[in-house]
Amino acid sequence: MSKAKQILQKHWSYDSFRPLQSEIVKEIIQGNPVVGLLPTGAGKSICYQVPGIARPGLTLVISPLVALMEDQVNQLRERGIKAVFLHGGMHRREIDQGIDNAIYGQYDFLYMAPERIQSELFQARMHKMNLSLIAIDEAHCISQWGHDFRPSYLKIDVLKDHFPDVPFVAFTATATKETLEDIRSFLPLKNAKLFRQSFAKANLSYSVLWTTDKLKELKCILERLQGAGIIYVRNRSMTEKISGILKTQRHNVDFYHAGLTYEQRRKKQMEWIRSNDGIIVSTNAFGMGVDKANVRWVLHLDIPTSLEEYYQEAGRAGRDGKDSFAVLIYDDKGIENAYRKMELGQVDHTQINKVYEKLNQFLNIPIGDGHETWFDFDINLFCKYSGFSLLQVQAVFKVLEEAGILFATDSFFKPSTLHFEVSKESFIRTASNSSFQSFLTTVVRTYEGLFSHPVKVSEEKIARLTDLPVSKVIEFLSKINDLEIGIYIPRSEMPQVKFTFPRFEAKSINIDYARINRQYKTNWRKLEAMIEYLESAHCREQHILEYFDERNTNSCGHCDLCRGSAKTDFSVRELKDLRSYLVDKVETEIDLFDVLHWWPFNKRKKVLYMLSVLENENRISINHSKLKVIK
Ligand code: ADP
Repeated sequence: MSKAKQILQKHWSYDSFRPLQSEIVKEIIQGNPVVGLLPTGAGKSICYQVPGIARPGLTLVISPLVALMEDQVNQLRERGIKAVFLHGGMHRREIDQGIDNAIYGQYDFLYMAPERIQSELFQARMHKMNLSLIAIDEAHCISQWGHDFRPSYLKIDVLKDHFPDVPFVAFTATATKETLEDIRSFLPLKNAKLFRQSFAKANLSYSVLWTTDKLKELKCILERLQGAGIIYVRNRSMTEKISGILKTQRHNVDFYHAGLTYEQRRKKQMEWIRSNDGIIVSTNAFGMGVDKANVRWVLHLDIPTSLEEYYQEAGRAGRDGKDSFAVLIYDDKGIENAYRKMELGQVDHTQINKVYEKLNQFLNIPIGDGHETWFDFDINLFCKYSGFSLLQVQAVFKVLEEAGILFATDSFFKPSTLHFEVSKESFIRTASNSSFQSFLTTVVRTYEGLFSHPVKVSEEKIARLTDLPVSKVIEFLSKINDLEIGIYIPRSEMPQVKFTFPRFEAKSINIDYARINRQYKTNWRKLEAMIEYLESAHCREQHILEYFDERNTNSCGHCDLCRGSAKTDFSVRELKDLRSYLVDKVETEIDLFDVLHWWPFNKRKKVLYMLSVLENENRISINHSKLKVIK
């Protein structure tokens, strides 16, 4: 058995590699650069994790989101693999420790965001790292043409100067031709072997439904769909509203969005993962790192901003290979909203300056101050304070981040930590003089390593052990800071922001507006491509594959269009049957909507057409969506 396969079985307990995985793993173990374009769920992580273990030394993984890194590192640790990650929310000393572990601790993996490469601490010590592989996850972030551009990705290539012999490998699940070109040219991957798995999914059926009443449509569709599913909507309040409505219809449903606490999100996620019929109504905050194979359907009630985004979200259905459905329901207002939101997200010079000013005021930063310090940041509070909408603030942040003025982290859970900075002797002296001696003794007995590095602590656990209320525990722990015998950092799950420069006059902000305008044009093009998909008349899957530059594809045979949803031709027999059916079923009048739902929705156009023929022949009348049969 090959070494790679042994590693797979030992740590993952999987019998074998998937076809493309084994080729990629082999290539990387041999030390060759690789670009992997594989759809979500294909198993990209294993492609670099198994070689990372097989090759002696440390694998550096560059990843864009803290939550993603945290998830991966936790999974590796659960599999008995030594991994560590660095993120902006860490204390300087914790980062120091993390880097030390990476250098001396025989770790297999170090995960970090691309911004970290430029940090002093990393720059000063990276040459001590015994790197054997550099893996770039979500590599599409390097492309200005993509939907998730992160300027720091462009700086990753400096690592090549320091580690000329270490192979680079890059992976993504979304890549058009332009994105792929950027990945190859901005990373040292010009000669890398490309592994590309088709984005076609034989078990996933795409459908699009135009309607005048999304909620009614949703109710009817849910009667036909079975098993667990996700409903995507665009804002937080909508998740709660839809979930509330579906509850009254006796569905096993919950909602999810980034405004919930970490604990709430974790609980909702776990319950949904365990269920066979659970529905989760969510913003696009849901999905990343969620590993549920038996999702039977994904339903969109709002229009995503690009086909990249849609494909990614829809692809959360059917990871187990069984038949699944991706349905998008939209109305004319949805199209208007999508364009309006796009417009709102295009900020100009005045808005950028104002948001920068207000942000500094909000955080109480005087001119000439406030750089290199992380601030907890509640974006909703700031929106209220500044009078800007969430969309506008997010858009300005993106611009400021791209200009290297500001860093913002996503929200993630950071447990409380405690670290005693004094010697044990001096600690005992202080402790014995203080009123909370027995409290400190319990804490020191409970947690190991408190005198050498920051240790994760749980206020609830300490409360149980000391028989004190949690509020008192927090008060005592804070006292450790006051007495200057250690550092207690309470848990946080707030997003954070940091400025790179001391506060300056907003008018001196230096932004490349030409580039931003190009980006906005790209975003428009992407949205237009999304709308084209909705209005398309040829196979949905082929449409998506062509968008991702896959050529010579076959029609899927199972999307709504392949199943005839655009067809209107009918036989005389069918028309007669429809009329008799209506005569039987309709006593006085009936809602047109209910009539349409007697048939699967790929027959809708045809039924509508037949009804218009019957109306022309004066056999039925339709007034304000009410249908009457003329007998
Ligand atoms: P991606 O990053 O491509 O979306 P992941 O790396 O998250 O995919 O993998 C998706 C799921 O497939 C995970 O649960 C992973 O453990 C599982 N998986 C990956 N490779 C294999 C394999 N060879 N055999 C069985 N399961 C696998």
